[in-house]
Amino acid sequence: MHFYCEKCKKEYPLNSTSYQCSCGGLFRLYKDDKDTIPQDVSIGEIVTPLLPIKFGKQEMFFKMEHLNPTGSFKARGAKAMVNMLKHLDIDNIVEDSSGNGASALAAYAAAANMDCTVYVPESIAAGKLHQIETYGAHVRLVIGNREATAEAAKKAVVQEEAYYASHVYNPLFFEGIKSMAYEIYHQLDDNVPEYVFLPVGNGTMLLGLYYGFEEIGRLPSFVAVQSENCCPLYNAFKKKRKVSPPSFTIADAIRVEKPIRLKEMLMAITRSKGDVITVSDEEIEEAQHQTGRKGIYVEATAAVPIAGALKYFRKGKPDNYRVVIPITGAGLNGPDKKRNR
Ligand SMILES: [Zn+2]
Repeated sequence: MHFYCEKCKKEYPLNSTSYQCSCGGLFRLYKDDKDTIPQDVSIGEIVTPLLPIKFGKQEMFFKMEHLNPTGSFKARGAKAMVNMLKHLDIDNIVEDSSGNGASALAAYAAAANMDCTVYVPESIAAGKLHQIETYGAHVRLVIGNREATAEAAKKAVVQEEAYYASHVYNPLFFEGIKSMAYEIYHQLDDNVPEYVFLPVGNGTMLLGLYYGFEEIGRLPSFVAVQSENCCPLYNAFKKKRKVSPPSFTIADAIRVEKPIRLKEMLMAITRSKGDVITVSDEEIEEAQHQTGRKGIYVEATAAVPIAGALKYFRKGKPDNYRVVIPITGAGLNGPDKKRNR
């Protein structure tokens, strides 16, 4: 198992202190049939339920990812990455995230007895911050947007000679997300759904599921849903020439202005014959409330694909279409404290 550059194909070991190729290309993971990722570090993962939910006459399937041990799907990626890094005797890691990625990594790092430092935007929800601190990670608050947070983390990696355990740069993270594709496939009696709706910021879930279903042998159509206030993938996919600058959205986990894996995401959408759509903050809040009325409390970002699916199938959906919506994160950590800005 090793990393290789998506552009020039140069190979790098998994424990490389580089997080991208010297040519500027991003890493992909090479893994053959014999390669496995250790599973020793565990904090009680489950196969998350695939729950049929009815909105009016339309049935959809919620993949209950907020029931993962850290409250979001990012536990899957953190588990794979921390296990592999532990196996490679790496004991000092740095990550940056808007919240769920950092808390997942902090949790698994704690279980693996690793030193973990996370860079988070100062606008992080108070509940998420408390979660990360409780796991014992060193927290560094960064003033500025998501990109500023990533820059601060990268600087620290060089200065402190730590390993950049980024959920965006490091392909080991995507490797962990693949397990969700296999679970969905088995829960549908070895079938691939027609559609998967998902919120997209950095594209962690989109790419993880894309590679997972690619391994299974058939792709669902991925419909990426973004906030209309911050939608770089939508603008690129629709080839928009005139775009308004990104602005605030309550969907804080996907408030990413310049996703580094944009090309890879476009490939996933195109090859899966998918689509990219946007929703407003009002539509997100409405979907969050509708979901709450069914007894399921999700964070705003997790309501984004629900709002997207309801909009996409407003005029009806063929009964035989199986639509899966991963519920990315729990609502329990509270809304972003800047929502009334
Ligand atoms: Zn390269």
